[in-house]
Amino acid sequence: KKIIFSGAQPSGNLTLGNYIGALKNWVALQEDYNCYYCIVDLHAITVPQEPKNLRKNSLEVLAQYIASGLDPQKNTIFIQSHVSAHTELAWILNSMCYMGELNRMTQFKEKSSKNEANLNAGLFTYPVLMASDILLYQTDLVPVGEDQKQHLELARNLAQRFNNRYSDTFKVPEPYIGKVGARIMSLQDPTKKMSKSDENVNAYIGLVEDSDVISKKIKRAVTDSLNEVKYRDEQPGIKNLIGIYSNLSGKSISEIELMYEGRGYGDFKNDLAEVVVESLRPVREKYEDLLKNKDYLESIYAQGADKAEKAARKTLRKVYKKVGFVERK
Ligand code: ATP
Ligand code: MG
Repeated sequence: KKIIFSGAQPSGNLTLGNYIGALKNWVALQEDYNCYYCIVDLHAITVPQEPKNLRKNSLEVLAQYIASGLDPQKNTIFIQSHVSAHTELAWILNSMCYMGELNRMTQFKEKSSKNEANLNAGLFTYPVLMASDILLYQTDLVPVGEDQKQHLELARNLAQRFNNRYSDTFKVPEPYIGKVGARIMSLQDPTKKMSKSDENVNAYIGLVEDSDVISKKIKRAVTDSLNEVKYRDEQPGIKNLIGIYSNLSGKSISEIELMYEGRGYGDFKNDLAEVVVESLRPVREKYEDLLKNKDYLESIYAQGADKAEKAARKTLRKVYKKVGFVERK
């Protein structure tokens, strides 16, 4: 079976963007691949996190993975900080990665401009840790949203560089980015992507948020004054909402445009709110059940860490040897 690796940061609860751009694909792939799905807490601390929130979010994200349909028996679901090989490989790749490569990363530019008081080196080398996450498992395919494409390109370059400098060690991974919904935009600023760490809570829809909150956020979503439900670039707000509608309902874009021809945004938003609420309802219900069973969640991440650790150590051992580190006897 081919290998898949992906993850999300416990920097908050998952959003509809994470669900459509990542999780739905993860679930679809679990039958045919050997999948590693990680809760990347080491990545999350590259921006300030309150320790008790980080701990809580990590468990909640785990429950949200399972509630979204990831089967813990079919996949290796684990917490990044439990497998120290991630940081160990990151150090080695850091020593092979050029500053210039990291300087070009748009996520760093965006996140650092919001966080000038805490411009830490971890945020800068974030893509190298992400490369380690992926390369440790000899990953074939990485299902991510469009925003991670550039980071994945770096992971490929680092894999190739290592393989050329030493000898064949890493599989060079391919991105897997869905066509529709690869980039869900903020409800408040449709030129920015939807992000769980957005300081404006109206900008995102939480995967397990209350139905009435979801409806309110959709009704408040920024649109335009054209009052036409058309999927086009001049109407980025409406375009984004149509994309969400299409992804969750299975209706095509043109079908949706036709349905709302000559009707206002009010009707469209009402219906969209219902589509979103009804799609997420089973996820939220399952999530609430899972949270009642902390022992079960613990057993999942404990078992996941054991499985991940074995695979990761195997790659790291090879890497240490090739780099020239003396084997510990
Ligand atoms: P943060 O704001 O803390 O960076 P995030 O919402 O960007 O949070 P991540 O944990 O960084 O979430 O990303 C998890 C996965 O979700 C990645 O595969 C990423 O590509 C995908 N993703 C994130 N935001 C979106 C979005 N708006 N549309 C589609 N996919 C997304
Ligand atoms: Mg992100």
